[in-house]
Parts: sequence; C-alpha cells; structure tokens
Amino acid sequence: MLIRAFGSIFLGGLVCAACITSAQSPKGGAGSATQTSAVTTNHPVAWPNGAHAAVSLTYDDAIQSQIDNAVPALAKHGLVATFFLTGTSGYLQSNPDVYKGLVAKGHALGSHTMNHPCDRSQPWVKPGFGLQDYDLARMQKELEDNVQQLRDLGQKEPFSFAYPCGSTWLGENHESYVKLIEPLFVAARGVRPAVTDPSSEDLMNVPSPMGNSSGADLVSWVERAVAQHGWVTFTFHGVAGDYLPVNAEAHETLLTYLEAHKSTIWTERFGTIASYVKTKRAAP
Ligand SMILES: [Zn+2]
Repeated sequence: MLIRAFGSIFLGGLVCAACITSAQSPKGGAGSATQTSAVTTNHPVAWPNGAHAAVSLTYDDAIQSQIDNAVPALAKHGLVATFFLTGTSGYLQSNPDVYKGLVAKGHALGSHTMNHPCDRSQPWVKPGFGLQDYDLARMQKELEDNVQQLRDLGQKEPFSFAYPCGSTWLGENHESYVKLIEPLFVAARGVRPAVTDPSSEDLMNVPSPMGNSSGADLVSWVERAVAQHGWVTFTFHGVAGDYLPVNAEAHETLLTYLEAHKSTIWTERFGTIASYVKTKRAAP
C-alpha cells in the first residue's frame, strides 16, 4: 500500500517531504548490512465538516436512461453526480445540449474515451476496437479528443476518467496506459468493488462497486464506508432502462438514504472528492 500511496502523490506532482520516513529492512544473518530506504505515507484524510464518509455517484457511457431517470431523481434529492461520457455515444452526439445542461445543474462530466475499447473477447466489441488493437498513441489521441469534448460541453478542469471495462491495459502485450491518464486527470475510476481508503488508495485506479444491485446492497456499501470513514464510488450504467440497469426502486432507495444522511455523508462529484483527497494528503 505504501508503494501505491507513494505513486499517487508523486505522480500528482505533489511530494510531501514530511511524509517521507525511513524504514529499516529486517536484519539478516551475520554480516548482512542494514539497509535504509525511503518509504512514504500520506497525511490521514478526514472528510469536510466532520462527515463520516464520502460517496460518489457515477454514470457511464452517456446513455439515455440516465438522463430520463437518474437526473430527475438526483434533482429530487438535491444530489450531484459524475457522468463518464463515451465520445461516440449516439445519444450524446444527438443531444449535446442535454449534457451542457448537466454541467449547469452542478453535475460533472468525465472522460470514458471516444470508442470505449475493451478486451476483444467481449462479443460486443467491434472489429478493430478491442484494447488489443490499440497502442499508446491511438489511446492518447482518443483521450485528448474526449477531453476536448468535455471542454466544449462546459466542463472545467480538473477532469476525471473511468477506464472502459475497468481495464488499464492496451495492446497484445497488455501494456499499462495509466501513464497517459496521470497527466490528464485528477483521478481515474476502476471497477474493483471496495471502499476507498482516502489516505492510501491509488487515485489512478479508484475502486468502485457496480450499481446494478438491490437498494439494501447499495445502502450497505455506504454503511461500510461510514464504518471505515472511507469513500465509496458507485458505477451505474442503465437506470430503469438500457443495459446493466439498476431498477428505479433500488436507485431511489440509495438516493433517499444519501439525502437523509447528508449531514454526515458527503455525496459529491468524483473529481471533486479526488481533488480534496489530493490536497489533504499533501497538506503540510
Ligand atoms: Zn463503459
């Protein structure tokens, strides 16, 4: 965890000198030297206003049921969310003003690439658009084009990212493309189902349980985050429609719970929470 924590603060361009501590390796047998190496810890991160946990609601792929069903529900409960946009989404291309409107309402738009490449073993991946078909230059172009789309829709920096299918690799040799993400984005969301420890988690691959579950299960994730003073980021696709859907009742159960507990649970846009975490980790 320390190595990952070091990576996240170093790669964010923020190195906390006070966080560098010395650690001695276990002593070996007679004649072995005692080695001293630098390891890094972050400052513990406490949530603002004494909140017990943080929650991010994220909606992937720019699909219509999110606009039709999630956005009104969010408004009803006074909550904001993050929409990770696939640049070639037909719904997005036909309705850019809808997405400009989301920014105006206080939601965030994030990047999800242009063509949503995933492992070509997935049956729905179009020929030529598997992650195996990509190299770093092709992915870089997609990321830059997608970020430009976000700018054109009114989203301001810092931008955030969600890995399509949660995959952090490309090419036949599964080369990591995280090094392309770090300079462009404050944080990136993965798909490992876990509560995030804000003091140590790698912000370039933030865990996230899938949202297509029961209301009780979604609330139980929030309760786990409260117990750990952690951060849970939900990944939704369809909302009462489209694919991998959460049903309207389960979505409503979660949002009702978050509104009822807003004095102790900080529900905020993914990138805003990540920016807060970065700042607190690096604080003198
Ligand atoms: Zn996706």
